[in-house]
Amino acid sequence: MKLFQLILLCFILGACGKMLEEGDAKVSSHYVSAFTSSDPTFDNYKNDFEDNYYQETGLSINTSAININFVDSIEENSSFIAVCIIWGNRKDILVKTTYWDAVGEDTKQSIIHHELGHCALGKGHNNEIDEKTGRPLSLMHSNIVSGTMFMSFFEEYIQELFNQ
Ligand SMILES: [Zn+2]
Repeated sequence: MKLFQLILLCFILGACGKMLEEGDAKVSSHYVSAFTSSDPTFDNYKNDFEDNYYQETGLSINTSAININFVDSIEENSSFIAVCIIWGNRKDILVKTTYWDAVGEDTKQSIIHHELGHCALGKGHNNEIDEKTGRPLSLMHSNIVSGTMFMSFFEEYIQELFNQ
């Protein structure tokens, strides 16, 4: 299969909390988290994010204060996959359980890198695409980059995420 066909088939899986995020992390003055810790499920994903950050920049980043947890829904919005919520000086990432359970390991990595891009790096969405292939140029595309795409262009995505 030609590369561009592969790209067209799998580059977009779904929206990253479009309605909730409005292009950036959701900043909420009325939200109060139900969580006081992070689900251990996400420990390895946070570690991988921190490791990739270190590999790319030579600097350390600590995501331990960002709690990541599963929820069934957010504000009756059914289309979200995950969302970073900033409230006061605290940050929460909420991940939809049914979506998480339905996708592969590499896509899980893409989701958490994207959400930590919001919550740990303060990045907004970047919907630039490669004009020839249609490939999203950033993990911060408002539609989550598929795991297959992430791994196919791993170096490019990590470099873009952590250096720009
Ligand atoms: Zn997002």
